[in-house]
Amino acid sequence: MTVAVVGGGISGLVVAWRLCSRGRDAVVLETSSRLGGAVSTRAQQGFLLETGPNSFLDREPATRELASALNLEDRIRVADPAAKRRYVYTRGRLRSVPASPPAFLGSDILPPGAKLRVIGELFSGRAAAGVDESLADFGRRHLGRTATRVLLDAVQTGIFAGDVERLSVGATFPQLVKLEREHRSLILGAIQARRAQRKALPPGSTPKLSGALSTFEGGLGTLIDTLGASLGDAVRVGATVEGLTRVDGGWRLAVSEQGRRAELDASQVVLAAPAYVTKGLLQPLDVELAARVGGIEYAPIAVVHLGFDAATTPAPDGFGFLVPPTEGRRLLGAIHASTVFPFRVEAGRVLYTCMVGGAKRPDLVGLDEPALVALAREELEALAGVTAKPSLTQVYRWPRGIPQYTVGHLERMAAVDQGLARWPGLHLTGNAYKGVGLNDCIRNGLQLADALVAAGP
Ligand SMILES: Cc1cc2nc3c(=O)[nH]c(=O)nc-3n(C[C@H](O)[C@H](O)[C@H](O)COP(=O)(O)OP(=O)(O)OC[C@H]3O[C@@H](n4cnc5c(N)ncnc54)[C@H](O)[C@@H]3O)c2cc1C
Repeated sequence: MTVAVVGGGISGLVVAWRLCSRGRDAVVLETSSRLGGAVSTRAQQGFLLETGPNSFLDREPATRELASALNLEDRIRVADPAAKRRYVYTRGRLRSVPASPPAFLGSDILPPGAKLRVIGELFSGRAAAGVDESLADFGRRHLGRTATRVLLDAVQTGIFAGDVERLSVGATFPQLVKLEREHRSLILGAIQARRAQRKALPPGSTPKLSGALSTFEGGLGTLIDTLGASLGDAVRVGATVEGLTRVDGGWRLAVSEQGRRAELDASQVVLAAPAYVTKGLLQPLDVELAARVGGIEYAPIAVVHLGFDAATTPAPDGFGFLVPPTEGRRLLGAIHASTVFPFRVEAGRVLYTCMVGGAKRPDLVGLDEPALVALAREELEALAGVTAKPSLTQVYRWPRGIPQYTVGHLERMAAVDQGLARWPGLHLTGNAYKGVGLNDCIRNGLQLADALVAAGP
């Protein structure tokens, strides 16, 4: 019997694609009229606009494997070298983020006292065993107050748009916790990890994964379109799953499609919709499990694209800039989209992609579109000196955009896994649980599908 996958974002599509390519019967039910969830690319007035994510890091074997199986490997486009530099807005202007330890010593990203404190990281201690610390507490112990406020908060803003005092370090940056556990000091751990990596590689060899910031020719929507085409009839758009019941050792889904309500029986169900939707489906089955899943918060985010004529606005250097929330500005940051991926604009155009809102300023995402455009323009002028009138403006709003892995998230996930064990044939995947990035969604989706295949029909 079939595996029903609820939600046709990248997570659900990857699960279904893997199941189908391993000879299993799967169907994706997607409420919207298009696939991809947060991921979609739209062509407009000579610009390729991403509605949500812009890129992924080419360091995840699962993503490479997927791209290769879909014949997309030669359509991967890596960021232009001009995008190498990154900026943080601090102490009244944009400052370049140093790319190496020697560069850090010479840089002005932190005041001298705060730089010394970062070097003092070599002597920092470990957290008490078993404590799920906030990212801010972890950062202050290792790097000091200023570096946590300026650097760590900026980095998390670029991924989670969250609140550094509330996010769990173990759930958001597990690699930092691992470094601390194994080496105590992050700096010592990073040096040793780099040495070990070099030793592991045979001389002269280069790793297959470039590690580069990447997208696909045509934008990230190319991945969604290719997955959708490969799935063919196994995808039903405009199909909203409204209910879930256990029947005869399998599952029955209530599906609303083109105004009609129908039932679909499945041997297994993969819930790949956002956590707040999954909560509603679980509620009649298991109140405790539903409450755990429903407790996952989301930060709203608005994407404001501003497109310019290069004659009025020269192409900016670098990937873009991040603004630590304590700077009190109204922008989370901006991506220099046309510098990163020049193919995303026609010649003579410049594209800034501004991010607004997040956990600290959710109110801003509720502004109407003209107000969001005005806000982005004012901030871009104040922070980056961009004064020209844009020839293109486009806003995409995500009222519940990015799941927030707050302190307690890992414990919550352990309880969710335990709760799921009460319901054979019911599975969860998606960005709300074990990684928000595209690479995480792809890796987790493939792993889940492989486990289902391994468990047999
Ligand atoms: C503005 C923004 C920028 C980002 N930037 C990056 C980036 O640069 N790099 C990166 O790696 N990641 C980025 N991310 C994160 C990444 O895009 C997401 O985590 C990922 O796309 C989530 O995929 P998903 O399939 O888990 O969830 P979703 O994309 O949310 O998909 C869930 C799907 O379920 C469907 N659904 C909901 N209810 C039902 C129902 N009842 N029945 C059927 N279907 C239903 C929805 O319509 C949706 O299509 C960004 C996210 C946002 C919002």
